[in-house]
Order: sequence, then C-alpha cells, then structure tokens
Amino acid sequence: MSQKLESTNPATGDLVGVHVVDERPDVDAAVARAREAAGWWAEQGFAGRRRVLDQWRGVLTRRMGQLADVVHQETGKPHADALLEIGMAVDHLAWAAAHAEKVLGERRVSSGLLMANQAASVEYLPLGVVGVIGPWNYPVFTPMGSIGYALAAGNTVVFKPSELTPGVGVWLADSLAEVVPDHPLLQVVVGFGETGAALCRAGVDKLAFTGSTETGKKVMAACAETLTPVIIEAGGKDALLVDEDADVEAAADAAAWGALSNAGQTCIGVERVYVHERVYDEFLDQLTRRAREVHAGVDTNARIGPMTMASQVDVVRRHVEDAVSRGGRAVVGGPGAAGDRFVQPTVLTDVPQDSVAITEETFGPTVTVNKVRSMDEAVTLANATRYGLGSTVFSRARGAELARRLRSGMTAVNSVIAFAAIPALPFGGVGDSGFGRIHGPDGLKEFTYAKAVARQRMRPLLALTTFSRDAKADTAFATLITVLHGRATQLPRRRRR
Ligand code: NDP
Repeated sequence: MSQKLESTNPATGDLVGVHVVDERPDVDAAVARAREAAGWWAEQGFAGRRRVLDQWRGVLTRRMGQLADVVHQETGKPHADALLEIGMAVDHLAWAAAHAEKVLGERRVSSGLLMANQAASVEYLPLGVVGVIGPWNYPVFTPMGSIGYALAAGNTVVFKPSELTPGVGVWLADSLAEVVPDHPLLQVVVGFGETGAALCRAGVDKLAFTGSTETGKKVMAACAETLTPVIIEAGGKDALLVDEDADVEAAADAAAWGALSNAGQTCIGVERVYVHERVYDEFLDQLTRRAREVHAGVDTNARIGPMTMASQVDVVRRHVEDAVSRGGRAVVGGPGAAGDRFVQPTVLTDVPQDSVAITEETFGPTVTVNKVRSMDEAVTLANATRYGLGSTVFSRARGAELARRLRSGMTAVNSVIAFAAIPALPFGGVGDSGFGRIHGPDGLKEFTYAKAVARQRMRPLLALTTFSRDAKADTAFATLITVLHGRATQLPRRRRR
C-alpha cells in the first residue's frame, strides 16, 4: 500500500491535506514525462514561453488569496505575510519571463585580431529538466526563485516541496497545468527526504536545492554520483551593523522586522546585531520597545505565527539558554519565551561570540545585540561566521564601503532584505550558505549552458590549425603575438648592486 503524508496546520493541529508519497519509480516517471515536455517547451522560443508564463502570472495574481490560504494553513504564518511572499514571487516570474531573451538570446562577440576571419557568437541554451527541492518557510517565494527562472530559461521542472507544505507545491503545479494542460511543464513529487534523494538520482540536468546546510551536503553527495550540477541555497546567520551616524530609529525598526517577522524563520533574517557604542543605548531602547509590541499567536493582533516545524522550538530554547548561561542578558523574552509551538520574541545582549546563539542558525524570533567600539570591529565580528548569506548596514556616510567589506552574497544598506525583492539582483550565499545564484540574469543563466559558436567567414590570413602550417606562418605568428602583447606592463627593473 502507498505511504501517505498528512499536512497539518501547525497553529491548530488541524489536518490540511493527505497526499500519496511518491516513491523512486514515481519520481523517475515524473522526470521522464518532464523530459518529453522539455522538447516542446524549448521549441516555443522566448516569445512563446513568455506568453505562457504571463498567463500563469495572471492566474497566480487573480487567485493570490486562495494560494495564501494554503500557505497560511500549512505554515501557520499570518495570511498577510503569505500574500507578501506570493506577490514577490509573481514579480520575479514577470521579470524572468520578460528578460530571458535579452539575457540568454544569441549575441555576437568580438572574435579578436588573431581570429578576425571568424564570426563568434554565444547563446544560453536550456539544460532540459531541472529538479527543485524546497523548504517550508517561504513555500512559494523560495522555490519560485528557481522554478520561475528555470522555466523562463526553457527547462521543465520537477519540484519536491517540503513535507510540511506539500499542498502549496501541488497548488502551484495545478495552476500552471490550467494554462498548459497538455504538457507537464511543472510537476510535483510529494514526500519526505527519500523523495528528495530520489529526485537527486533521477537523472535531472540540474538540481536546485534550498534548505539547511546539512541537507545541502547530502544533496550534493547524491548528485555527485551522476555528476548532476547543483545550486545550494542554504542557511544563514545574517548580521545587521549600526554605525554611529545611522538613523537609529530606522535601524531598530528594520532589526525588529528582520529578526522577528515570519517568527524568525527566514534564511536572510537578522540574527545578530552589532551596534556602535555611541548609539548602542538608544538603539537597544528602540528595539526593545518594538520587540515588546510583537507577539506570536493566532489572534488578530498577532504579528507572527507558530514555529512551522515543531522541533525548531527546542533549537530556539537551547540557543537562548546557552546564551543566558554564558552571561548573556535577555532584555525581552528569555528561555521561557519558547512555549509549545508559539515562541515569543527574545532580545539578547552581551552574548559571548562563541555561544551557539551567535555561531549557529537559530531560525526563531530571537536576536542578539552586541556593542562594538568601531565599525572595523563590527565588520570583523559579522564576518566571523561559517555562513555568508545576507547582511544589513545602517550608516549615513559609509554604507557602500561597509557593504563591500561584509562577506555575504547580498547586503541591504539602510533597509532590510530589500535585495530579495529586486528581481534584477542575484540571490545566493558563500561559505556554508551555499553557492550558485537564483534571481536576475545570473539566476537565468544558472539553468542553461553557454553555447559558443565560431563560424569561419573567410579563409585566415595565417593558417594555424593545419598540418600544412609552415615556418613562415610560425614566424609571422610569433611576430604578431609580440606586437599585440609584448609591451604589456613591464616588470620594474632591478637595481644592480
Ligand atoms: P531541510 O534541509 O530540512 O529540507 C529542505 C528540503 O530538502 C525539504 O524538501 C526536505 O524534505 C528535503 N530533503 C530532506 N532530506 C533530503 C535528502 N536526503 N535528499 C534530498 N532532499 C532532502 O530544510 P527546511 O525545510 O527545514 O528549511 C529550513 C532551512 O532552509 C533553513 O536552514 C533556512 O535557512 C534554509 N533556507 C535557505 C534559503 C536560501 O535561499 N538560502 C531560503 C529559505 C530557507 P522534507 O521536508 O520532506 O524533509
């Protein structure tokens, strides 16, 4: 008998849906169907694909409320927050569809002096079938960063949503099937980790994974068996820096929202704050006030919902307990803030840099705030992490300079998380936060391979790639190279003693 997967509402425990788990043969069959559809999809060209994706965008937009209901039920996040992530995903889809031709289409490049007889061009061709494995925290926005861009680049997609949000995945695939009923451009395979592992081994042409660093390593190992290329979008431990000249009120507001929204279950959420000593007291006062106004619950005033994954409550509690036991101070919340399923905001200060609340991803509504004597110290502490996903800087004079010095894939200056909502910007991390980029031109190119073509327009003046090349040609070649490159920057002369 087939195994069943039940999705439940984490806020109430109510059953949301029952799904049949896809086993390895089901996953293989989905990939085979996707491969067949990939031929048709590639033939549609940029204009045809744009028409389809624009129609899908229309469906998603008109039925946003319905999709938000499913997100709300499966994750427990407030309905308005569900709408926010769907709206952003739709905006990305529009950008990907509209820009695919410009970014990926054939273009001429210079063939250079040596090869002046050649016409050179490059274009970016679809890989074929892309596997997407997604997390539960932003079950629409996050996978759509891969799905939308992979489709726009001409691939078909097989998507394995988190076991906590299968209904969202099914809804997305069904909505595209309404636009294109005859070709399975986007299919969903439902299940637990084993279903994801089966997708890694099903012969997809690329695997785009978003989830924890630990699972990312397993995905990479499984994909290595067949040399399947991967994108790994993993966890983070993002820092927010507050300079002495910063707009402190705006920084505190951003820190509160960046740390607490979605109950802190955000890969690019603010987990650590480093504040210049001159504005520390004022910042902490403002952040504390804001954090006290936020509470987790199901009532209409609750700004955040439950922890979507039950086991995360213990992780948050362990991090807060560790920080406090090592001399950290909870100015809001504390170890008792982690209840059964709802975790109330916690603001920790003076947390030692080697405590787990600083070194590991917490993924809950908690934030650490530490005082620094200079922004150099702030940069050093912010960079002292194995992660490198996003970061934030509040500074009037030095925003761009500090942003450049932070080792993270994205930085917001004087606002928070803005980079994720700008479709033209690449999104992804360094270090344990993964590699590869979704969104923007880089995100489109991730789902293609570069195709280079050199077309001979006329016979070469110097025939080099032939066994009939003679000594005269060799001399002419050496002379030409010397003329072209011989005057390249000379090394400084050494003085003779
Ligand atoms: P997990 O790593 O637990 O799971 C991610 C996905 O991988 C799920 O669909 C999961 O399935 C699947 N999976 C589990 N085991 C395997 C396996 N062996 N082979 C293949 N797939 C597998 O992450 P979460 O779902 O808990 O998501 C939270 C994490 O995601 C956080 O670390 C967060 O920072 C990160 N994240 C990163 C983002 C980014 O863009 N960098 C964006 C959003 C989140 P199942 O659910 O059935 O276990």
